[in-house]
Amino acid sequence: MLTTKERYFEQISASLLVRSFMERTPGGTDPYDALRRHVTAARGAGEFGAKPDLGRLMRCRNIDEHLTYVPNAPFDACIQPVGNRYQDGFRIVVNRSRPAVRARFSIAHEICHTFFYELVPEIKYARHTADAGEEHLCNFGAAEFLIPGDLVASDAAKGRPSLQLLESLARKYCVTVETMLLRLRGLGLWKCSLLFWHRMVNGEFVLRKVYGDRKVKWEWEDSSLLSRVWSAEPGRTLSGRMPVTFERSGGASGAQVVHYQIRRRGDVLVCLWSQRTLERQQMPLFTKKLVPMGLGGFASRVPAASGCNEDARLAG
Ligand SMILES: [Zn+2]
Repeated sequence: MLTTKERYFEQISASLLVRSFMERTPGGTDPYDALRRHVTAARGAGEFGAKPDLGRLMRCRNIDEHLTYVPNAPFDACIQPVGNRYQDGFRIVVNRSRPAVRARFSIAHEICHTFFYELVPEIKYARHTADAGEEHLCNFGAAEFLIPGDLVASDAAKGRPSLQLLESLARKYCVTVETMLLRLRGLGLWKCSLLFWHRMVNGEFVLRKVYGDRKVKWEWEDSSLLSRVWSAEPGRTLSGRMPVTFERSGGASGAQVVHYQIRRRGDVLVCLWSQRTLERQQMPLFTKKLVPMGLGGFASRVPAASGCNEDARLAG
């Protein structure tokens, strides 16, 4: 199976903006490598650790550390250049209706846009439409900022994949479980997928989101599993091994046998599955801190890493 990098490589390399960005990055061998070099340099300048100080990083990248919040917007966050040159600086506008943990990822994403403004100003400061390659790379860069590969690799080595470890890692790095799962896959540390079923008012379950596997209508061999998870006592995880299949209207179909862990979270069933064995459920590896987020008010400072543990839980 192709890695994310391989899958998107040609697509993003077709962009003049991305090609120019890569060519102007000293030592950059491909777009991902180029962005990683910028992230590493910025992290060094901001004395980054496992809990990155995004405020300090924003200052390093000429961004006003005071965020502007809007009550509702069709975006999680966006960056606005103040003038016509990188040196003039930027401000970041954040949709306050989004959870803090998503805001942190969005801010890290917006910080990555400054690399493009700095290196390819003739495109970025001119009238332009969104560049899918740049957006993809900024997501890649945000994950690099928030989840340093070397640190998470040593954490992931503490046990086999499990829902519990995934949640612990998401809390530790203050990202969503989806982001953490994709990062673990991107680094080649886990070969797992994360799936979310929602229960409809008529009692049926609908597969809404799939991360790391084909986005098709997967069906369990034992279709009663989802009802059993739904009715299980709060916090209980059901696990096992079972065939799953899908069929498409055009006749395409597929099947695989997966090891799974599945749990109810509010109105959502969250499932981690893999063709490899998963860890047995155990005590959390990282202590959970309950610190108020304090995101209220306009022009608040960037959300602190220590404060978003509650939001890092699975949705639901
Ligand atoms: Zn963007």
